[in-house]
Amino acid sequence: MFVSSNLSTNEKGHLTIGGVDALSLAKEYGTPLYVMDEDTIRNACRDFVRSMNEYYDGNGMVTYASKAFSCKEIYRIMMEENMGVDVVSGGELYTALSVGFPAEKIHFHGNNKTYEELNLAMKNDVGEIIVDNLEELNTLDEIAGEMGKKANIMFRIKPGVDAHTHDFVQTGKIDSKFGFAIETGEAFEAVEEALKKENIILKGLHCHIGSQILDVDPFVFTAEVMFRLMLKIRDELKFIVSELNLGGGFGIKYLPEDDAKDYDTFMKSVSAKVKELCKENDYPVPFIVIEPGRAIVANSGTTLYTVGSVKNIPNIKTYVSVNGGMTDNPRYALYQSPYTVAIADRADKDGDTLVTVAGRNCESGDIIQENVYLNSPKAGDTLAVFCTGAYNYSMASNYNRVPRPPVVMIKDGKSRVIVKRETYEDIIKNDI
Ligand SMILES: *Cc1c(COP(=O)(O)O)cnc(C)c1O
Repeated sequence: MFVSSNLSTNEKGHLTIGGVDALSLAKEYGTPLYVMDEDTIRNACRDFVRSMNEYYDGNGMVTYASKAFSCKEIYRIMMEENMGVDVVSGGELYTALSVGFPAEKIHFHGNNKTYEELNLAMKNDVGEIIVDNLEELNTLDEIAGEMGKKANIMFRIKPGVDAHTHDFVQTGKIDSKFGFAIETGEAFEAVEEALKKENIILKGLHCHIGSQILDVDPFVFTAEVMFRLMLKIRDELKFIVSELNLGGGFGIKYLPEDDAKDYDTFMKSVSAKVKELCKENDYPVPFIVIEPGRAIVANSGTTLYTVGSVKNIPNIKTYVSVNGGMTDNPRYALYQSPYTVAIADRADKDGDTLVTVAGRNCESGDIIQENVYLNSPKAGDTLAVFCTGAYNYSMASNYNRVPRPPVVMIKDGKSRVIVKRETYEDIIKNDI
């Protein structure tokens, strides 16, 4: 049941998170509550950085895709761990800069960045901008020119690899809103175009093939597809692409049966492939960037709720309703994401009752999880949902005017608030 190493039980049978009793956290801070374990986050960063050093001679950078979980404290932690960060909006960029995150280690993504966002990025000398389309390239060239600066860019490429089929395939996966396709020739043309621009410095090529990928092969295959494009660019345009960004998407363990790989496995295989291709083709070994988001923060997070009611509908199902839901975790409603759940009061006991965990919002689709076993759930119990560190707080909303829960960080057996609970005053603060 314990899908993350920061979870355990104590002598009372209560769930512990980073060694701290979950019921005491629920009592001190109230529920719903996001709890994150700092060591789990730092260890994930260190694992990725170490594998980059060990298998790729440190000739690369690990950037945290901060859309997974963005707030001031996470950027401070990333700074201390010598990570880069990815941002996908002016809001994330603003948050990172607000704590003094070094701009040169920020990469700016997005398929439709606004003029204001590009301006903000250039004004602050953001390290690289990942350009998605030709309109953006032109706008950026203009903005850089007006500022008397050069914009460092990467192009977002569609390598045409679908990592989500059982046997991953290279298909005509050009139906994506992100980036330039290789097979239509538009990726190559974009590079040609960039090389003509006065205020643009083309550093590299970027791709991102999906999320929660548990296999290594799609990454290795993608690296090769991208490398072939780099070769074509060298041969036909006499230009060496010096950076290769392979994106994120490394899968984590949501359920006990998920076979999440050691992060070393990815770097080891990808490095071997890239080095081999470089040697065969006498190509300078490129700087590699990887962008884990989920893999950095998901396992560190647990959400605590209070059970309000248990409603048994004979011969149909049993609903366990909690005091949060799609407003703090929309992922089941959006794409039926699996999670492991447990009653924190009796976390040492197996589930014995088949239930559907429902939220408190006025939508029948407001479900946290269906067909899961809980240990004799009853009103007043604390319910824990594991591995909610990624794409939960960052996807939270105020639907039904429900205030967002706070985020509490655990470190060395102590807890501290890193994001405050929203109040009703916060809810009406922009209303006129
Ligand atoms: C979302 C995203 C990531 C992170 O994906 P994870 O599955 O969280 O690792 C990395 N790069 C880009 C461009 C993304 O859009």
